[in-house]
Amino acid sequence: MKSLRPLLVTLFAGISISSAQSLKPRLIVGLVVDQMRWEYLYKFNSRFGPDGFKRLMDSGFNCNNTHLNFYPSHDGPGYASIFTGTVPSIHGIPANSWYDKNIRSEVYCVEDETVRNIGSDRFAGSSPRRLEVNTIGDELRLFTNHQSKVFAISLMDRAAVLSAGHSGNAYWLDGGSGNFISSTFYLARLPSWVEAFNSRQYVDSICKAGWDLLYPRSTYIYSNDGGSLYKGTPFGKTALSFPYDLSSFASVRRNVFSYTPFGNTILIDFATKLISNEKLGSGDTPDLLTIAFSSTDYIGHAFNPNSIELEDTYLRLDKEIGSFLRHLDELYGKDGYLVFLTSDHGVANNFGYLKDMNINSGEVKMNEIILNTEKYLKSTFGDLNWIRTFNYPMIHLNDSSIITTGIDRKAITEQIKKNIEQYDGVLKVLDLTSISDELLEASLKTKTINGIFSKLSGDMIIILKPNYYETFSRTGTTHGSLFSYDTHIPLLWYGCGIKSQKDYSEINITDIAPTISAILNIPEPNGSTGHIIKDLLININKK
Ligand SMILES: [Zn+2]
Repeated sequence: MKSLRPLLVTLFAGISISSAQSLKPRLIVGLVVDQMRWEYLYKFNSRFGPDGFKRLMDSGFNCNNTHLNFYPSHDGPGYASIFTGTVPSIHGIPANSWYDKNIRSEVYCVEDETVRNIGSDRFAGSSPRRLEVNTIGDELRLFTNHQSKVFAISLMDRAAVLSAGHSGNAYWLDGGSGNFISSTFYLARLPSWVEAFNSRQYVDSICKAGWDLLYPRSTYIYSNDGGSLYKGTPFGKTALSFPYDLSSFASVRRNVFSYTPFGNTILIDFATKLISNEKLGSGDTPDLLTIAFSSTDYIGHAFNPNSIELEDTYLRLDKEIGSFLRHLDELYGKDGYLVFLTSDHGVANNFGYLKDMNINSGEVKMNEIILNTEKYLKSTFGDLNWIRTFNYPMIHLNDSSIITTGIDRKAITEQIKKNIEQYDGVLKVLDLTSISDELLEASLKTKTINGIFSKLSGDMIIILKPNYYETFSRTGTTHGSLFSYDTHIPLLWYGCGIKSQKDYSEINITDIAPTISAILNIPEPNGSTGHIIKDLLININKK
């Protein structure tokens, strides 16, 4: 990136000093660190340098009490909620994939048969058509009569697409080719600068270089080293710890690249090129760029939050963010840009790791439970298909069996509840037609209701106990629950006249977009139900 600076400084040489120091940002940068728990800011704090996370924490507005306000806590609904300022019951993205009862088929949140990807034909095209409402980027484009530019980039299509919204542009990495791609929803062809970036074959060169620890092994005191029973092996069964030799994957299995911290490096590099080539921040209206760092999610899933791989990833990301912020300083001046850093969800500890500490936890084999429940229903109500499909955590009943037999629907849902709730790890099974009558702690009930998009939802939803999750593996981990380890996320605001302040008021992920609206004096996204973080606005306006 260093070698680019002279070129970029030249590109922006025409920007006047007075406009660069304006308190209205020239560029808004969203840094979404996928699967980042709030606690990582503090767990690794003593190892962070002064320029990355610490700069945002110590010199910015730090919302320490920010949570997801919906269930389940997955990528699709997470990104959609950050950028639309509302919950799945309004924005229409209740999961990454779900069973669509209208077409009786499973669908993926950004799949779109009416478009095709450009740069790769491995998968169906991606677009935000299933997102029912506007994003903050859409509102910015509307307000400025299309003058503001909106871009979102990620390793994952869903992260880029749902962040960019309907009128922005999105690029994501195709794991097979190692190239950044987009879809015909956005563009007819890739710009020449993207093609030039891809021609560098960065992914292959990283695979050839491999992954070793950034610092001496003995300094990684906040995580566990190799040999753990609970670490996955995405680089092959014999690759158990550092240094990871990835050379055999170059040109062959490039998608392992996502499981390295260099997935963050390539995004920062691509963002820098994008800023330069698309001339972000050089117009009369603010532009918006979102970088959704996906490697943190891949690494967390595969290795688990207590692994040395995760710690090394955050220490490296800290340096990358520091370098990127210095680059923004050079381009726009310290108050010429606004950064917000957050996450789409947190993550659970590995259940076996917790068990070793005598902490109550466990795996839940939901498919077996559903099969047993279906057997029970057949023996009780007759040999018909009673559960049409199960797409965790949602149960869809087979309406035709209920209509054919005339059996009271409530009698069936009561038996399903009774049957499933007897299994270890299951907290509650809720009937969505009578959810207000269910006995459940109020905030958990609200999160559940917020997560249900009624046009798509099933009939019943399962809630597991804290530290229990559905899994097919004893290694790694996952997320998706409505408890704090999955819902408590960082939220840092920096630049644009913001002064150092620690905040502990209750903030929801859906408050981010309306707060950006307030800073920019533009309308909130059309479905927004979030609230403006007033103390941040007061902070900005303090002399
Ligand atoms: Zn995620």
